Amino acid sequence: MIEINGDRLLADLRALSRIGARDGGGISRTAFSAEDILARRWYRDRCQEAGLKLTFDGLGNMTAHHPDDEGRTPAVWSGSHIDTVPNGGPLDGAYGTLAALECLRRITEEGLPLARPVRALVFTDEEGNYGHLFGSYGLVNGYRAEDLAGMVGRDGDRLIDTWQDFPFRSEQPITPLDPATVAGFIELHIEQGPKLELAGLDIGVVSSIVGLGGGRMEFRGRADHAGTTPMPLRADALQAAADFLTTLPQLAAKVSDAAVATCGILRLSPDAANVVPERAVCTLDLREPSRAGIVALHAAVETTAREVAERHGVDVVWEPDQIIDPTPMDAGKQQAIRDACDAHGFSRQDMPSGAGHDSQNLATITPTGMIFVPSHEGRSHCPVEYTDPEQLVRGANVLLTTLLSLAS
Ligand SMILES: [Zn+2]
Repeated sequence: MIEINGDRLLADLRALSRIGARDGGGISRTAFSAEDILARRWYRDRCQEAGLKLTFDGLGNMTAHHPDDEGRTPAVWSGSHIDTVPNGGPLDGAYGTLAALECLRRITEEGLPLARPVRALVFTDEEGNYGHLFGSYGLVNGYRAEDLAGMVGRDGDRLIDTWQDFPFRSEQPITPLDPATVAGFIELHIEQGPKLELAGLDIGVVSSIVGLGGGRMEFRGRADHAGTTPMPLRADALQAAADFLTTLPQLAAKVSDAAVATCGILRLSPDAANVVPERAVCTLDLREPSRAGIVALHAAVETTAREVAERHGVDVVWEPDQIIDPTPMDAGKQQAIRDACDAHGFSRQDMPSGAGHDSQNLATITPTGMIFVPSHEGRSHCPVEYTDPEQLVRGANVLLTTLLSLAS
């Protein structure tokens, strides 16, 4: 069985982690930033060294492939992203991107005769500075000029200004990809949660990417003087919101073991120390592997919020977000990943992904699978993101064996 060059992969990960490195250990490599350009130049150099061709589309998504692969035969794709959240870690995205490149290098070095070529991809702005899973979404669905014109980044900059002179973007039109050009997609990624490490397992075979719901729950009470208004006469929006928020753990548990409910933003008005809060707005993020589960969570938060509001004598307005359906991974690709684990003797389990990934866009046009490796203490999107190097090499070997089986 051919294997990846583990030392080369780990050295690549260290080298890429120095691009955009900040004091304190974090990495900031936002899409289309100077650091993103440096990282792409570094990636292009690695491709050149390996005798691979690198092309890019109108969104800056990049594809590395063998020069003989001119796109006539549908290819097996693998890849991820190299942009990071502000002050992120060294593995989210970078690991799957560099492991895909390493697999392509090994296939090229061995000169293996394959029925289908393998291509390594880098998707633009997975972390959504300008749009949720921006590059892979546009690759699969296209964007209209007015969609792009309206996109504004975290720092308030307009996308179409920022990417003016970006050297890794072609002028080709941003239209949906022809699904007939792709023979399947496999993404390797760190778990970003604690389950594999707690279970002492090597590999997660992703069964689905969880669906996403949520919305804005606004409690409306009455602003009054904090010193003169007796407690029984108040309509305190925050007291109602606080009561409601303490129920979230039970509401999630009632739906399933995998359901999660989070309030990450709480805004008060008038937001003054000596005024009883008139409004409290909770922004909710609700996730669950089944669509029925998310619908049930939506219903449960609404019913509970109304009961709590009534008890507190305040009003409540629920503005749910559009539900993003869960994305099941392809059964055949899951089996190919399981077989690859077994061939290497690595322990594994099937599991849903709680985080969103480029795979959920690719899955809408081509059979898609995802491989997870353990994340130490489940930490991610922060400088301490870490996976044992041996596990990183194991995951990349599972990726290579899977890609070879799909390309043969
Ligand atoms: Zn990622």
